[in-house]
Amino acid sequence: MSDCIFCKIIKGEIPSTKVYEDELLYAFRDINPVAPVHILIIPKEHICCANELQESHKELVGHIILTAAKIAKAEGVADDGYRLVNNCGAQAGQTVFHLHFHLLAGDKFDRMV
Ligand code: 5GP
Ligand code: ZN
Repeated sequence: MSDCIFCKIIKGEIPSTKVYEDELLYAFRDINPVAPVHILIIPKEHICCANELQESHKELVGHIILTAAKIAKAEGVADDGYRLVNNCGAQAGQTVFHLHFHLLAGDKFDRMV
């Protein structure tokens, strides 16, 4: 997707602060953090949102969540706790239409659910 900012970040066309990378994923610090630790975890494949996930993505989604847990440990926030958020669609607050999970930590958050 040539006009997707997260695809541009993966390609290095837009700078970002990398936290983790492997063949499937890229993780970087959010430009506008809402918590002391605010990391975005994204697949390298352009998938617009959770609505576009297929059966073939099961392993990828599992890998994202396992990697989130590893990043939380590496950031030193795993024991205190963290929140993993995916916004799907405009009404949920999605503004960048490349699937991503927010890893939020370092603060006590109000319960949403
Ligand atoms: P959404 O609202 O779609 O769930 O989350 C998109 C997130 O991407 C927001 O938290 C926003 O701050 C972040 N973001 C948007 N553009 C950039 C960028 O160019 N660089 C980085 N690091 N984060 C971005
Ligand atoms: Zn993209």
